[in-house]
Amino acid sequence: MTELSDPFDCVHLWHPYTSTTHPLPAFKVKRAYGSTIELADGSRLIDGMSSWWCAIHGYNHPELNAAAAAQLQDMAHVMFGGFTHQPAIDLGKLLLQIVPPNLQRIFYADSGSVAVEVALKMAVQYQTARGMVQKTNFITPRSGYHGDTWNAMSVCDPVSGMHHIFGSNLPNRLFVPAPQSRFDGEWNDSDISVLRQTLAEHHPHIAALILEPIVQGAGGMRFYHPEYLRQARLLCEEYDLLLIFDEIATGFGRTGKLFAWEHANVQPDIMCIGKGLSGGYLTLSAVLTTAAVADTISQGEAGVFMHGPTFMANPLACAIALKSTQLLLAQDWQSTIQRIETQLRQALEPMRDFPQVADVRVLGAIGVVELNQAVNMAAFQAACVARGIWVRPFGKLVYVMPPYVITPQELAFLLTQLTAILQSE
Ligand code: PMP
Repeated sequence: MTELSDPFDCVHLWHPYTSTTHPLPAFKVKRAYGSTIELADGSRLIDGMSSWWCAIHGYNHPELNAAAAAQLQDMAHVMFGGFTHQPAIDLGKLLLQIVPPNLQRIFYADSGSVAVEVALKMAVQYQTARGMVQKTNFITPRSGYHGDTWNAMSVCDPVSGMHHIFGSNLPNRLFVPAPQSRFDGEWNDSDISVLRQTLAEHHPHIAALILEPIVQGAGGMRFYHPEYLRQARLLCEEYDLLLIFDEIATGFGRTGKLFAWEHANVQPDIMCIGKGLSGGYLTLSAVLTTAAVADTISQGEAGVFMHGPTFMANPLACAIALKSTQLLLAQDWQSTIQRIETQLRQALEPMRDFPQVADVRVLGAIGVVELNQAVNMAAFQAACVARGIWVRPFGKLVYVMPPYVITPQELAFLLTQLTAILQSE
């Protein structure tokens, strides 16, 4: 283990959600290719995480590398204020072919959390521009996750999120129960009733409903019924608020559809995408909205949309995102996701019988095993590394979402080793 960690790192480098006084081990990676992550000592891990949903084509992909190298010959970056460039234009053209058809305006941002901030700002500027100055708050289902920046955090689940740490300084949002009807189960109309009641009472103050369509990711890895989205869309129209879909985790094929809105055929007013957008190479996100929302903002008091990050539409990231999306669309990705889903089901379903397992859920290339007790992260990850796989749980949730390039043999190995680890949990 010691040769796999780094003494400078242990003392000076902060890792995600990690203590500096009792840091969890951070294994040193030498290189990564395909579905393999190679550690400093030469040992190899089969990747079950796609580096938090983003490395959809695996690592070190020759075509993505070539796209990056070619773009570097022209420029790595140039400001987007007053300039434009071909990678942003070509990526935009391609995105418009695959997102909900009503979304025609694109704002590039730098990360998922920033995309959520941008979406929330768009909703408020839209409402203000049309004279609805009281409509500045947001409503969202519990068990959601939308990122770690201030406003994104405020719409995360108030219990499992970080509300208790940041307390009264966080803006107060309206929360409704998370949908209970399972994705593949019966729809229960009571799922929507609290949203209906809350909107009836509070709609004069609500700019938008924000949610992750179909899959609630880091807030609980829950898959819910598409009817919830259809009902939510109707309520947004009835009570005159915008519907924001956060497709940062669900986008680019992960749930078996290119984007999760397609499961319900419900088009949002604003949609955030990120993660898989740039194939796991660079941080890039985009917020898409309708011409009506964008034009209303532009006719408001400010006359412009008030956001403009330094690295907006970074050409290198856009060139890689373009190639990554082209790569995805050029292959039979539906069959690949279907194949991964079938294999995940076959391997994970039997775990229902383990006494330590509370639930098993599979959708597309996402497999979740919910345990009765929280995992001991350090011990679990050491076991993963010892067995040649990479899976990083949170709390009671052990989940895999492998890169789409994973071979049946690699996936079988990943799942066999994971089963062995969970058996001894
Ligand atoms: N929204 C969702 C649904 C996410 O899963 C995440 C990241 N896990 C974010 C937003 C935030 O994205 P980022 O980490 O790139 O800021």
